[in-house]
Amino acid sequence: MLKLEDYISERNRILKKEQNLFLGSTLELNEKESKLDSHIIQLKCDELDVSYQNSEDFIPRRHFFKCKNEIENSKIFKILRDLPKGNSLHTHLLASVSIDFIIKNITYRDNAYGKVINSVFKIKFLKREDAEKDGWVSLKEMRSKQLNFDDWLEKQLSLIVDCPQDSYPSLESVWKKFKGTFSAVYDMLCYKPAFEEYYYQSLKELFEDNIMYGEFRATPMPLYDLEGTHYKTEDFFESMLKVEKKFKKDHKDFIGARYIHSVYRRISSDDLKKDLEEIILMKAKFPKLIVGLDFVGFEDEGYSLLNFYNDLVSVREKLDFFFHAGETNWFGHTDSNLVDAILMKSRRIGHGFALSRHPQLMSLVREQNIAIEVCPISNQVLLLNEDPRNHPAVPLLSQGFPVVICSDDPATWGASGLSYDWYVAFMAMTPKDCGLKVLKQFALNSIQFSALDDVDKKEAMDVWTKRWDDFISKMLINL
Ligand SMILES: [Zn+2]
Repeated sequence: MLKLEDYISERNRILKKEQNLFLGSTLELNEKESKLDSHIIQLKCDELDVSYQNSEDFIPRRHFFKCKNEIENSKIFKILRDLPKGNSLHTHLLASVSIDFIIKNITYRDNAYGKVINSVFKIKFLKREDAEKDGWVSLKEMRSKQLNFDDWLEKQLSLIVDCPQDSYPSLESVWKKFKGTFSAVYDMLCYKPAFEEYYYQSLKELFEDNIMYGEFRATPMPLYDLEGTHYKTEDFFESMLKVEKKFKKDHKDFIGARYIHSVYRRISSDDLKKDLEEIILMKAKFPKLIVGLDFVGFEDEGYSLLNFYNDLVSVREKLDFFFHAGETNWFGHTDSNLVDAILMKSRRIGHGFALSRHPQLMSLVREQNIAIEVCPISNQVLLLNEDPRNHPAVPLLSQGFPVVICSDDPATWGASGLSYDWYVAFMAMTPKDCGLKVLKQFALNSIQFSALDDVDKKEAMDVWTKRWDDFISKMLINL
């Protein structure tokens, strides 16, 4: 046996080696950053020490609906809100704006009507005579008759409920309601003036959370207005560009936004062919805005990526892939999408929840430098993982895999921006003594692994560096 001092030194050597593998550990912090780092670690330890005595008190362990207010009161969360987080890389456009904003602004517009169709309460903008003909009721009238109508409406447009465990006993039940929330807002947001107001707000919520660029998973929406105009696909992209341009003009330091075409994963082969043809045409018209392709929907219910192989090969040269893959807790089943995402050269992988049980695929991900878009709150609300301390991405972070923290569908569970997911990842998925380095690495990864071209990436890095330095200085003044 070793003497105690030799044993301790061997022990420290091993722990140090392991610490040096963690994401962000290779970054060198300057003097100012180191000061802030110590402060953040102190706050983190204080917060963790309270809950260490009673794990029930550990905030991220509780369901997000139950702990959102407490997160907002955390000192760490307040720092994360102010911290320049770089880019948001995995958000679905139709779940990107706070329900509160939608209710208070969009649903209060004139000509908003509601009706239950296939058990989903849908909202649409219509001329009065058309609405009455088809049995739609004006929201104004509903509000005047139903007490707390807006609270009721919030529950129709989001997953938020008082008791999630009872309301969503299984993955299938939560996904059923989840799909319903997209259906509920779809017609309403296809109304062109509403869409443009919505998309502007979507960028604003990123900006207000100190995010400078967003990539949105979406499909082209069939925009309409009350004059009876039905707009073409290219008008949808024109609208996106118009709003982005205005937003950038109003908010300097906002880099921009990009679109990732997202196909429903139960699409038929014929429809996929037509869909891809159209998006390739659109890509030629909007080369900067449209950056890639993805498949969306409940992965356990959809076709596997392998089914689409021939069609995907034909567009590979024109569109980059950003596939959701392995968003499952099954083993030897849906998780096989991971091998296809890797072999088909997906630039990033959405979720990759099942990745850490596949050592060979992990090696390939590292070799090909594919970023994993980890969305901890989404995984909790959609019932893949209850306690984020047990999140399967923890071993990826421990080994320094290129992880980016993303929000997925923040509005659906009452979040906005990235800070909530950053908070959960930072508090539950990184070691107690891990501070500013991992946060800086999250931001750097979000820029490095974005779909921005090299010129825009350089600009993004310059803007972010300045904002980062300002943030550090401002924080130190207040210490
Ligand atoms: Zn997603």
